Amino acid sequence: MGPDATLACMDGAGGSPVLEPSLSTRLERLPGVGTARAERLARLELVTVRDALMHFPREYRDFSGAHTLADFRAGEHASVEGTVVDVGSRTLFSGRSMLSVVIDCAGGRVRAVWFNMPFMTRRFAAGMQVVIAGQPKRNGATWEFPHPEVRWLVAGEDAHASDWLAVYPLAEGVQQSHVRLAVQAALDHAAGICPEAFPEEMLAAKSLLPIEHALREIHRPSSREMIDAARRRFVYQELFMLQLALRLHRRQQGERKLAPVLAVDARLDSRIRARFPFEFTPAQRRVCAEITADLARSEPMNRLLQGDVGSGKTAIAVYAMLAAAATAVLPPQPVGPGPVAAGGAERYQAAIMAPTELLARQHMATLERMLAGSGLEVQLLVGGQTARQREQILARIAAGQTGIVVGTQALVCGAATFRNLALVVIDEQHRFGVLQRALLQQGQAEPHTLVMTATPIPRTIAHAVYGDLDVSVLDEQPPGRQPVATYRVGPDERDRWWEFFRKKLGEGRRGYVVVPAVEESKRDVASISSAYEELANGPLEAFRLGLVHGRLKPKAKAAVMEDFRAGRLDVLVATSVIEVGIDVPQATIMTILDAESFGLAQLHQLRGRVARGATQGICGAVTGGGSEPHPRIDAFVATCDGFQLAERDLLLRGPGDLVGTRQSGMPPLYLADLLRDGTVVAEARRDALALIERDPQLVDPALARLKELVLMRWGKTLGLGTIG
Ligand code: ADP
Ligand code: MG
Repeated sequence: MGPDATLACMDGAGGSPVLEPSLSTRLERLPGVGTARAERLARLELVTVRDALMHFPREYRDFSGAHTLADFRAGEHASVEGTVVDVGSRTLFSGRSMLSVVIDCAGGRVRAVWFNMPFMTRRFAAGMQVVIAGQPKRNGATWEFPHPEVRWLVAGEDAHASDWLAVYPLAEGVQQSHVRLAVQAALDHAAGICPEAFPEEMLAAKSLLPIEHALREIHRPSSREMIDAARRRFVYQELFMLQLALRLHRRQQGERKLAPVLAVDARLDSRIRARFPFEFTPAQRRVCAEITADLARSEPMNRLLQGDVGSGKTAIAVYAMLAAAATAVLPPQPVGPGPVAAGGAERYQAAIMAPTELLARQHMATLERMLAGSGLEVQLLVGGQTARQREQILARIAAGQTGIVVGTQALVCGAATFRNLALVVIDEQHRFGVLQRALLQQGQAEPHTLVMTATPIPRTIAHAVYGDLDVSVLDEQPPGRQPVATYRVGPDERDRWWEFFRKKLGEGRRGYVVVPAVEESKRDVASISSAYEELANGPLEAFRLGLVHGRLKPKAKAAVMEDFRAGRLDVLVATSVIEVGIDVPQATIMTILDAESFGLAQLHQLRGRVARGATQGICGAVTGGGSEPHPRIDAFVATCDGFQLAERDLLLRGPGDLVGTRQSGMPPLYLADLLRDGTVVAEARRDALALIERDPQLVDPALARLKELVLMRWGKTLGLGTIG
């Protein structure tokens, strides 16, 4: 949720010598924050008290100290309570200093170690009671916590009073402690004056935590249950407001609009299929038929296509887009005379939106390859284009000359105006497709919409978020595909694995090495550059390596991808930027480093990258632990069925469980998550519908604040103007 949504309209005067509580107070004025820290926090767009309060934790660390040594799994979070029995610091041969603190706890002794943080030494003395939390590693017979977080159980000390420590999204150069400090100061300063969006009766009826309580609990939970309760309030509010906004939008747009009728006859069907270098699978044919039936109606298509990684969803999208772009716009044109596409009749337009620029570029390349010589114009809309370039492309789209537009969501939704948009495809979409739909309803007609996802979404949730939609399933892989042979590679098997990996490269395979992302710059996550160097100077010395990660400029990223695709590189070292959709059929072997740090769905997506060609893909999941059971890794190795894995994932994470690792490139402000928040999504939708039925203009004075917030949050995006 945007900061303005919940906490708007409390701008106080500021500047008075006594610091009046105000949400717009700048963070540097709060006790303990200071100018230097505030400057860093600004990198996270945390400038005012309001920003800090609305900077929600990404996850929580269990700081209860309830684990015992027997519970430890290498690389997994654990926290123990105990007594400090020994504190020692020394200088290592390398010149680094090392602090080692031995703690006596239930089941034995553990060691906490810090490198090059001499100032930590002062904070420990034998006899102190502490809780430490982090990821333990085995060092000989001892469990060792490298750079753990510490909570001192000193009488009166209240540094992290909660058993659940908030972990915030970070930016480069901003530390957890900075964010925690600022948020704490912001809570002390103004938690009590946040305006409440919901009327009293609604809070009571829905058992929602009031705003102040919810803010305190989301940042400093008093228990696991309260994390859920606080989170539920914000998720509900976010979704409820979205649903209200969409209802208001629909109302303003008047009745449901009609979509262009696109008839695909047998001739067009075979003309389109002739463009593909392969035969469609029976599943693809079935789904195409479902889609063409929809397109032939004037009621806008609203279809969700679910298909496992590699099942060939792109082909479906391309098929549908070509059908749109081949269909002549029926005269008479209700709009005045405008430029007409070459060849006389105007044709409809289609757009495909990808979640990343890399993926958009790949779709573009596929389309260009397929459409060479066809005369159909395809344009790419991504960041990094010059203003002039952009302008020219937008002009061609607006004039109807471009048949197919490929781009990132921000640009296609935000920047482009279409003359004859008939179809929108949203690729690899996991959330809020409904919003893009609303944004694209420009002009006289509403486009048909196809949303594609590799993550199965329960139907009820999909209904609530995407509206009343139909679901198609690609339940078959293209012929010749074999399940990826997946192995778990424990510490003792690494050398053998790399030997195997090299051998396969030597036989002509191309490969990926996936490294956990650096975006969060967590100190315990191996930095990708050093991982790259280690590989280049170590096991993969003899090969040509390329490196892609999220920080790379899109153009540079595209260039490396192209080198890899063209065979000028043997191995691509990458973060999970390659997770979604990247398609290089010659790449058939993958090593995933630190596999435990990825979610199950993500691991499966990653593995999908080497399941593309006729050669059986191979994937090694390198783990810190040896043979101890690890539910996620074990499930990953056991099956290649994405639908089964998704269900398993849901079970492992548990619905409503926020306390898990969720690695996503998405902005973290959106708390709502389709899978986890299914019931809340449906509930918010029902309630919003009922409210709009009762009070279509939201004139009830008790709803004034809510209405104001909805307008503030969505008014501009959805062009709501003023209601009532
Ligand atoms: P996803 O469903 O993961 O988006 P893609 O659409 O990227 O999958 O397809 C994966 C690969 O399979 C691509 O290389 C594509 O060209 C190929 N492919 C798709 N359909 C077929 C088919 N019917 N026969 C052979 N190969 C196919
Ligand atoms: Mg895809």
